[in-house]
Amino acid sequence: MSKRLSGRLVIATHNRGKLWEMQALLKPYGIEAVSAAELGLPEPEETGATFAANAELKARAAADAARLPALADDSGLCIDALGGAPGLLSARWAEIEPGGARDFANAIKKVEAAVAETGAAPPYRAHFISVLALAWPHGACDVFEGKVHGTLVFPPRGTKGFGYDPIFLSDGLTRTFGEMMMDEKQAIPADGSPALSHRARAFQAFSRACL
Ligand code: IMP
Repeated sequence: MSKRLSGRLVIATHNRGKLWEMQALLKPYGIEAVSAAELGLPEPEETGATFAANAELKARAAADAARLPALADDSGLCIDALGGAPGLLSARWAEIEPGGARDFANAIKKVEAAVAETGAAPPYRAHFISVLALAWPHGACDVFEGKVHGTLVFPPRGTKGFGYDPIFLSDGLTRTFGEMMMDEKQAIPADGSPALSHRARAFQAFSRACL
């Protein structure tokens, strides 16, 4: 069984969209969440071959450096027609130059061009995945996974989210993640039924084990 968390927790991310979502998810639990960026921790290179390996290496680096438990998310958009791409490289598809600033409007154009090039007919099936890793300083690390399935829509719709939100339409919905307020995308149902977003679903598993 995982250890229960209390007190301070490092959110091991330099991505503002993820940070806001994770802070909002943690808010009801009275955990003081500080970001890796606020603590001046470096962003480790994501050299893992899986989402879990990358989440774990980010959480481990932050926990050991800050000497506090650390929670990291590794996530991405996986498109069936592209054999799961951009997947682990979701953030990299948005880089304007290697390792530099990111432009998601451009990444979305690349996705649209790549799916069109396959000759596959829409609807283009895809899923978002989030793997959360909780690492204890020089100690254990547990991982929790969440997925949400849906289709891609072009042109992109909505300006409320981040990353690939404007082109992702979850099954059963009529609005993209980009057209939803963060509270709605991230809501955790009180009756224990599955949350909507991949990150909120991974968070449900994490909160059951650790909060
Ligand atoms: P990484 O986990 O830092 O490698 O980055 C994952 C990338 O996947 C992010 O930069 C976003 O582009 C994309 N992504 C992950 N989760 C979401 C989400 O909830 N909405 C939109 N894009 C996401």
